[in-house]
Amino acid sequence: MEDRTVQSLLTRSRRGALHYGFAYSVNPYRGCPHACAYCYADSVTRDDRPWGLVLDRKVDAPRILARELRQAPRGLVLLSSATDPYPPEEAHSRITEGCLLALREAGFPVSVLTRSPLVLRDLPLLRAFPDVEVGFSFTSSRDRPDYEPRVPPVASRLRALRRLSEGSIPTFASVAPLLPGTSSEDLRALAEELGEAGARAAFVDPLSLSSYPAAARRMRTLGGREFAPGEAEELLRRFEADAQRVGLPVHRRLFAWRREATPAAGG
Ligand code: SF4
Repeated sequence: MEDRTVQSLLTRSRRGALHYGFAYSVNPYRGCPHACAYCYADSVTRDDRPWGLVLDRKVDAPRILARELRQAPRGLVLLSSATDPYPPEEAHSRITEGCLLALREAGFPVSVLTRSPLVLRDLPLLRAFPDVEVGFSFTSSRDRPDYEPRVPPVASRLRALRRLSEGSIPTFASVAPLLPGTSSEDLRALAEELGEAGARAAFVDPLSLSSYPAAARRMRTLGGREFAPGEAEELLRRFEADAQRVGLPVHRRLFAWRREATPAAGG
């Protein structure tokens, strides 16, 4: 683990808020110990160190972010796009917590996206935001140690989602990536569990590795495959139907459920 100082933390969405649904992303860490095989973050950050084994702490992130927010037009901030903002290390270093404090102070709307129940630590702070939501990522209704060796168990993510929902924090599920070969039973169970846990919406996005050669290599090594023609659309339709049965709105674009509320601050 390394400590690194950064010049900038607030990254403007490259293709704009209207395309991705968020205006900025903030990544308090570089690397991610959750080690998902399909993760594209190493390609995006051009980091060729062994994925899942590195985590750099951006120790001055809260201070740099607070400075940048003073100059920036208001817009939805995604925390995070190229790391998980709640790796186990966050329990000690509290860098994400510091970034949240800076965002609340500056009055920016925030969407937290994580695979870790550690986000519950910050529930009181999240409650102090006028506009905040928390999303959890899932690829299955069951644990996937093959592709997600150090991701917290599905049950713990569902419990955390439920606690946040019951604690008046809007929640969503990111079913991404939807993996080839996912069974109908698995999709149905996931939709039901997300509905029961109180998720307000779900985003679903099929696996696509063509632009991410390192992730494609990792998946191939583990026996993963690309979608057969028509398979992804079939799985999407099934999940949408299952979700509809439990009253869970499904979107194929991230943050489609809040597009109206997102200022177009991106370029
Ligand atoms: S939790 Fe997110 S950032 Fe971390 S390895 Fe998995 S997909 Fe990548």
